[in-house]
Amino acid sequence: MSARNTDIEKAAGVLRAGGLVAFPTETVYGLGANAEDPAAVTRIFETKGRPPSHPLIVHLGSVEQLADWVEEVPETARLLAEHFWPGPLTLVLRRGRRVPLEATGGLETVAVRVPDHPVALALLSAFGGGVTAPSANRFGSVSPTTADHVRAELGESVDFVLDGGPCAVGVESTIVDATGEELSVLRPGGVTREELEAVVGRPLAVPATSRVRVPGQHPSHYAPRARVVLVEPEKVIAEAEAAQELGHRVGVFLPAAFAGAPVAAHAVVAVPGAMDEYARELYGFLRELDQRGCDLIVASLPEERGLGLAIANRLRRAAGPRTVPSASAPSAAAGVPTGSAASVVPTASSLQEG
Ligand code: AMP
Ligand code: MG
Repeated sequence: MSARNTDIEKAAGVLRAGGLVAFPTETVYGLGANAEDPAAVTRIFETKGRPPSHPLIVHLGSVEQLADWVEEVPETARLLAEHFWPGPLTLVLRRGRRVPLEATGGLETVAVRVPDHPVALALLSAFGGGVTAPSANRFGSVSPTTADHVRAELGESVDFVLDGGPCAVGVESTIVDATGEELSVLRPGGVTREELEAVVGRPLAVPATSRVRVPGQHPSHYAPRARVVLVEPEKVIAEAEAAQELGHRVGVFLPAAFAGAPVAAHAVVAVPGAMDEYARELYGFLRELDQRGCDLIVASLPEERGLGLAIANRLRRAAGPRTVPSASAPSAAAGVPTGSAASVVPTASSLQEG
């Protein structure tokens, strides 16, 4: 870990004083506050521009602390916690009394996890309590996977940024509703459905729509400034070249099967064939293409198994309709190829995030 002990102590002090600390986890960087300080928790929502109805994840330093934060720990939840923590699995359970409603978006359930990152664990241990943390980015935009991403996006509005290097997993945690014995995956993420099923010994439900009761639908998330269009892998090059021809500055997610093929576009990133590597790079690629001035990104979905399920979920959300266009986003210009996109987009999850 690259953060020094003095930084950890300083960050824990900031949390105790009601401040906000951005910190690395194995998934993405989080924007943390003392989970038991409603004013500090409220600042997270203000800083991100996140609607207060969107619940946060409470990060704990050890499995042993779980019982202090939830009303009860069902047997299957305990099994999952003991098997996957520290790790990229979030459990939704009934809210314990010490969790303020500000952190749960008013819900009687709470999302909890123990992150698998030495800096996060050192911070949680030094602080002693629970740290509520969503991803350290503005609501709806691409999650940060380096400390520089956090500084570039949130800058002075965060009291302290702990730098722990680039995140190893790169996509958010898997969220499992474990309030009853009937489990369901609310968001695919760093722990795969297959890994979960191997531990619980039965198939898991992955609902297409979320059971999270939060008002409003925000289909577009994890979104770069550039519009994202999804097409079949074998159509990526032709679609990208056609859009470039029409005057777009096109960024291309070139599928591994076409590695090295020439593409007449503004910028090209080579998609890794290995899904763990792709997950690690995904958000960095989206940011890179924005930085290089692309106004359109042409990509395809990976196979939806293993980590490919989480990657496809994020790409669909990045390509989702933009209900609240950001001021800096280019307007939906005529000539954007969307025809073939429709064939691969329709099962987008409507989970609320940010
Ligand atoms: P993020 O803001 O990226 O950390 O994402 C947090 C995710 O956890 C969001 O998708 C929330 O909807 C989800 N979440 C947090 N608390 C709950 C809860 N009590 N029930 C269901 N989902 C939750
Ligand atoms: Mg987020």
